[in-house]
Parts: sequence; structure tokens; C-alpha cells
Amino acid sequence: MNENDYLKQIAALTGLQHYPLQGPWGRKSGSIIGTRDGFVTVIGFLRNREAKVAILLRFKKLEHPEQVKSAVAQSAAVSKKHGKLAEVGNDFLRWEWKYSFTKPKAEEVARLADALREAVKPIVQGFDGRCEHCASASTQSLTLMNGLPISICPGCQERVHHELDQAAINYDAIVPNYPNGLALGLGAAVLGGVAWGLLAYGINRIFLYGAILIGYFVAGGVLKGTGKVTRFGQVIVPIFTVASVLFGDAIFFTLVIMKQENAPFSTKLLGAVLSNLWQIESEGSGVLSLVFALVGAGYALYAARKPKFKAAFQPLGVPGN
Ligand SMILES: [Zn+2]
Repeated sequence: MNENDYLKQIAALTGLQHYPLQGPWGRKSGSIIGTRDGFVTVIGFLRNREAKVAILLRFKKLEHPEQVKSAVAQSAAVSKKHGKLAEVGNDFLRWEWKYSFTKPKAEEVARLADALREAVKPIVQGFDGRCEHCASASTQSLTLMNGLPISICPGCQERVHHELDQAAINYDAIVPNYPNGLALGLGAAVLGGVAWGLLAYGINRIFLYGAILIGYFVAGGVLKGTGKVTRFGQVIVPIFTVASVLFGDAIFFTLVIMKQENAPFSTKLLGAVLSNLWQIESEGSGVLSLVFALVGAGYALYAARKPKFKAAFQPLGVPGN
């Protein structure tokens, strides 16, 4: 059964509507969107590396989202064999049901959506037909904000547009502090390299997450220093990340030599390792380190991309049938 027919089936079972092409996950098959007892429910396909059916439940903001987690965990009606709680925010939860070939039974997805709503009912409130932002204007229909169904009145939509425009102007007006970015980035790279070297020595292996962490760390330093995302930062972050991992390798090799030769640490020794690093690396797992560092830098650049200041509002279209 294709995604469209499948969602139509769930829509019929839940009494909610299916909107092809719409919803937060950008798939052709769209989403099932609707409100039940004030709780906004979205069901659709989510595909990144794996195929999943996702259930998003939105409710009134609450202070402690952990309460939602424990309520779902304690609910016997929410079958933990049918996926897992992927994310909880202060006004939503998202359940993801991973599958490989056969889609989950439509009846079970519908039942799960009901069970999730019932599980959180005692601790969170549903929406009451008023705008979520100003809590005053009567807002019966849902509007998609960047694909996410919310209750927002026309006045608040205007205000969101205006605030985002202002935020974009403010961001553009920040004068980047390049020396600061350079200094903090360099500091992060040195610290990251030392940590990488010590850790590699301690557990005697290198690992991908270490390089990714260094990438994030360096990107964080540069970004904090410059104050905004700049081309300059995008160039030095990968360079510093790779340098940091290589420096970490040099520390690792120095420590190994110190142990083997029973020699004390000296800058001369570290210098000798550094000047022969290329040769040492090519005999060991240096290429792997370098690949890890580049992956780390890639992640870091992705994490440190320029923020988007855009909100697109779209009314719900015509439900499919
Ligand atoms: Zn409003």
C-alpha cells in the first residue's frame, strides 16, 4: 500500500483529515492533521536514514517537559514495542515508529495516537480555540507555520513576521570580531587536541565522535568569538578542526614514545614528533584520524550555519479523500 492510501486509512480510523503535500515533514504523502480534545495531532512519514511513521502531539506549554516523558513511560497503553519517544519539548512530543519493509498496522498507529494523548491528558492541557500566542483572539482553525500546525491569529502572524524581520536586521548589524573568533577558535582547537591525545592514549584508540565533538567545540569557540556566522569562520573551523585532531595525534604519539623510552616529557620531543608527523601518520591510522576530523568539521559547519529568520504561514488545504 502506498503512503497516501495508508495515511487515508489512518485518517479514517482516527477521524482526522489527511492533507497531501502538507505538514512538517515535507513528504508528498503529506500528513494527517487534526485536533482531538484540544490536542493537535499530526501523523505522517518521516524519512532520513530510516523509514518511520511519526506521531506529533501538541499541547499547551508546560514548565517541566520531563513530566511528559515519565507519563508516556508509565502508560501501559503506549506500547513500547511500537517505536519510541523521539523528542519532547515544552509544547509537543514526537513518537517515532521505525520499520523496515512492512508499514506498521494502521489500526495500531491509530491506537497509539489515542494512547499517547490519553497518557499526557492528566498533566497537560489541550488548546482551547484561542490563539496560542496572545491567548485572546478566537482561533478555531489551524495554520501551518513552516509546516507545523498551530493556532495563531492573523495579528500574531503579522507580529511574528515583524519580529523575525527585526531579528534578521539585528543579526546583519552585528560587527564580527575576527581576532576574538581566531583566539577562541585556536584555544578550543588546542584544548580539543590535548583531550583527543590523552583520550586516545588512555583507551588506545581513536573514534569518530571525538572528532565530531572537537568540530563542534572549535565551531562553538569561533562563533562565540566572532559573534555571528561568517565566511571567515566557515573557512577556519574545518582548518582548526583538522589541525586539532592532528595535534592530538602528535600528543598521543609523544605519550607512546615517552612510555616506550621511559623518557620525560619535553617540548623537544613533541617538536620532533610534530615535524615527523606526516611520516608517523602514514604508517599508522593517520588517514583514519584525518577522515574523522573532516567528518567532524563537516558536522561543525552544518551546526554553525547561519540562522534562518523566516516564517511561512499557510492555511490547511483541502483534505484528500
Ligand atoms: Zn494572537
